[in-house]
Amino acid sequence: MIELSNIFRILAFWISVILLSLSCAGSKSNKVIIPPFDGDRAFEYLEKQIAFGPRVPGSTNAENCRQYLIDFFTGLGAVVDTMMFTHFDKVTGKAIAMVNIVARFKGSGSDENQNYLLSAHYDSRPRAEYDSDTTKRMEPIPGANDGASGVAVLMELGNLLAKSRCRVNIDLALLDGEDWGRPGDLDEYFLGAKEMISDIKGKYKFALVIDMVGDKDLKIYKEELSLKYYPEISKLVWETAAGLGEKAFIDSVGDAIYDDHLSFMTIDLPSAVIIDFDYPYWHTTLDTPDKCSVQSLQAVGQVIITLLYRL
Ligand SMILES: [Zn+2]
Repeated sequence: MIELSNIFRILAFWISVILLSLSCAGSKSNKVIIPPFDGDRAFEYLEKQIAFGPRVPGSTNAENCRQYLIDFFTGLGAVVDTMMFTHFDKVTGKAIAMVNIVARFKGSGSDENQNYLLSAHYDSRPRAEYDSDTTKRMEPIPGANDGASGVAVLMELGNLLAKSRCRVNIDLALLDGEDWGRPGDLDEYFLGAKEMISDIKGKYKFALVIDMVGDKDLKIYKEELSLKYYPEISKLVWETAAGLGEKAFIDSVGDAIYDDHLSFMTIDLPSAVIIDFDYPYWHTTLDTPDKCSVQSLQAVGQVIITLLYRL
């Protein structure tokens, strides 16, 4: 004979077993396979950009690097659009030809409205105004971290998105003229982003700007303005990083940084910048690949690819 209470206990046990197996089956069918981000390959892309020399807007180096990027993304099977525009320098009056590049990767889902934007700037700054050697302050910077690191991450993301599509549509924008301006005057910064916003209003769910993510000593804080206006994006990024045990992403608020995300915010596009602004070689001729590391690109790339495949 079995006591009634024991029957209930046995029943409860089997019900919990059935429920557990059902929930496991459910989670199994929803399991997303995240491709591994290759930091070594991303670092090669960083070095490749530097090999062109400084990519100052309007220069032959910039043109050569641009063609390299267009060929790269076209080779991956992305739809690649270029947007040309002219900037008239406020001081010299000179017309500078600039070009944005957007590589589009269609997702496997059928929803045409699931569009997300990732951007980095491929131009490098024309003046190294913080160089300790005052004779070098009018020279262009190599821009290994300030520019090339973000582009390198987007290039490796392109490799992964081309091989196995994620559910949503991803546009990778390589913007020109981010770093053209002179200190104290924001008018001539973020020129590519300012150009891009003219025809993307309402198109994207959110935008992530990737800049200065190659520093060997990588510590990425939540950027103050991103967090203030669109806290859910920073939350998503830092929670993904925490889930991966990625310690370069520090869960506290850092400085307010002016970057391309501010231009996106002017059209109410939810945006955040991922940036480590604590970089001693910023806007100097010493911003070279030896200050950057495979591990830093790897850390940022893996967090972003994980986040994208879970959207
Ligand atoms: Zn810069």
